[in-house]
Amino acid sequence: MEVFKYMEQYGYEQLVMCHDRISGLRAVICIHDTTLGPALGGLRMWPYASEDEAVLDALRLARGMTYKNAAAGLNLGGGKAVIIGNPRTDKSEELFRAFGRFVDTLGGRYITAEDVGTSVDDMEYIRMETQYVAGLAGLSGDPSPVTAYGTYMGMKATALVVWGNDSLKGKVVAVQGLGHVGYALCRYLAEEGARLIATDLDPAAVDRVVGEFGATAVAPGDIYGVDCDIFSPNALGGIINDHTIPQFKCKVIVGAANNQLKEERHGDILREKGIFYAPDYIVNAGGVINIAEELRGYDRERALKKAAGIYDRVLKVFKIAEEQNIPTYIAADRMAEERIARIHGVHRTFIPR
Ligand code: NAD
Repeated sequence: MEVFKYMEQYGYEQLVMCHDRISGLRAVICIHDTTLGPALGGLRMWPYASEDEAVLDALRLARGMTYKNAAAGLNLGGGKAVIIGNPRTDKSEELFRAFGRFVDTLGGRYITAEDVGTSVDDMEYIRMETQYVAGLAGLSGDPSPVTAYGTYMGMKATALVVWGNDSLKGKVVAVQGLGHVGYALCRYLAEEGARLIATDLDPAAVDRVVGEFGATAVAPGDIYGVDCDIFSPNALGGIINDHTIPQFKCKVIVGAANNQLKEERHGDILREKGIFYAPDYIVNAGGVINIAEELRGYDRERALKKAAGIYDRVLKVFKIAEEQNIPTYIAADRMAEERIARIHGVHRTFIPR
């Protein structure tokens, strides 16, 4: 691929290829934009079929983090790293320590964390070589409860926009995915008196929400077409697509899953159909908000309070969408871009050091 052309097109700052012969490390660190602060984004380990695929993934994910962090009101830029390898068979102490040393060479421009294929244990090895790592055991811990809370607040804000009242009492919510986030979300919804329709590939996860929250279970393939007010995707990406959209009977889509729109045009179709879509990266920012708290000394109450701000940000996205007559996924990007531009302006003032 033509890397510089791509970097120029989307405004990237830096791409670092990291190699260590002894540990076998082949990693890519990508820093997209540090206008707001150090680039924060997780480390993914994946058996990429080619180097190009790994580089492109790092580039795309890093840019996504710029938007997510900016929109979440964090003073963090966007970055991401990938290690080429199989997380089941290729992990070792030396691999992650070698990676940690490369992170350290960047002097804090990039802060790493867990992502697909990496764990808290891997972060501990990285921490042996650099302080620029978050998501360590005993600190911010599992972000899922904060993500679920933020998603719940995003859902209430969307309800206010659509029904003029943010109460979810009596609303029928179809929840796809009852894992870490989905289960915790169901608890908030049940406590408020929402009626749950739920599905998961894991029957035990379904039994749990049926037993604890009185949810009605449906088969995984049936969740898209159920009669409901709100559809909440908390499992997979790409689930808003040509196959699912014609089945939707919901008025609202709010969930924590990353990259819910299979393609951008699916966001346009939702709008045409009058379905209110709260953009995924605004709604699920609780996870990154939680990790960012760790950088200043972790406090779960403060993390939850910050995640509650997702309510106002979702309202703002819908306002921008209405005022500019654009779909919400574009409105979210504009909100992030505007914040970066405004803070860039602030940074113009020279400070003698
Ligand atoms: P998880 O692995 O704990 O749970 C996912 C659940 O979805 C599992 O129970 C799985 O069985 C189920 N699932 C998978 N495919 C399914 C299908 N086709 N139909 C129904 N259920 C299916 O993951 P999680 O931590 O709860 O995260 C859920 C989603 O939210 C993911 O997309 C993740 O990227 C996103 N997210 C999570 C966080 C966080 O803090 N955990 C933060 C931001 C975004």
